Amino acid sequence: MSEKFCIFCGKEPKNKNLEHVIPQWLIRMAGVEKKTVFAPHPNLGRNISFMHFSFPACTECNSKYSKMEAAVKPVLERVLAGQSINGADASLLMDWFDKVRIGLWLSNMFYDPVLKHNVHPHYHIDYGVAKKDRLLSIQKLNLEEGKNKGIYCGGTMTHLFNYCPTAFTMLINDYYFFNASTHNLVSPRVGFPKVVNACPLNDITGVMEIDVVENERKKVVNPIVQNFIPNSESITFYQPIYRDFLSPKDDLPISNYVREHSYDTAKGLGGVFWQKGFVQKAKYLQKNEKISMKLKPAALPNLEADVLGFQNAVQSKTVFNTVETNFGVRMNQMALKFLEKQK
Ligand SMILES: [Zn+2]
Repeated sequence: MSEKFCIFCGKEPKNKNLEHVIPQWLIRMAGVEKKTVFAPHPNLGRNISFMHFSFPACTECNSKYSKMEAAVKPVLERVLAGQSINGADASLLMDWFDKVRIGLWLSNMFYDPVLKHNVHPHYHIDYGVAKKDRLLSIQKLNLEEGKNKGIYCGGTMTHLFNYCPTAFTMLINDYYFFNASTHNLVSPRVGFPKVVNACPLNDITGVMEIDVVENERKKVVNPIVQNFIPNSESITFYQPIYRDFLSPKDDLPISNYVREHSYDTAKGLGGVFWQKGFVQKAKYLQKNEKISMKLKPAALPNLEADVLGFQNAVQSKTVFNTVETNFGVRMNQMALKFLEKQK
């Protein structure tokens, strides 16, 4: 381990304790206490026990997020049991996936100091939760009894993920989760304000200058996220977020449509839209409106290929291209060719 930083705030940990990026309750729920997770390391990766896959954090930061973990646990339990959840639950679940995705990204830096030096992460979990548009697609799998069960993550070891942690997949026993978050992922096609002319002002700090325009379209258009076709048996949640654009000097007008389809306008938190399968058009889900998460089991998708292809598709639409991200795209293309040949 190299220089210590709090995984939540990025500062030197105050009253240091440890945060499990894959929480202990989930490790127990999935029955993987005795299993290992593959972590990057200079030269080679190495296997680390799930229970030891933990990182420095301030006591205060950690206790703040313990509350979130306590709140999300029953929601995830209901999803895995095929019971119903409401819009607020889906939004909270996506907060948690933001936390895990950013946590896994930062854990790569902990194990590889050279990588941390090169990437120079300019934000941490505190800044990465509910910050940009996001999607979460959930699928139940018909795995053979006793096979493939456990917790697996896909797409978090790619060069591109290290520089742009936009998308990853997670397998929790027989459930498959696909999670992604970036600007303009959802907003343009659900009638929310769009980012135009995003321009990186500083490659190191990641400070961006962005212009935001109101969306003329005041409705949902299928597919909401281009390059992402949900499985026919899945349920997918989409949430536009405009928090980044709200500042006292901004006079971004919030239309009545946006106001009526938001969970919290002061925080710039759009409402959740949901879709079963792909053919059915996505619908707005009220905060307290419940939907059933009963899903028909489907075949295991290609865990790596789906997410690598999506990471490249997202990257092709952003202005934030550097030597490293271009290299990451090429690495993903090579891996995709390799996976294609293995079929
Ligand atoms: Zn902290």
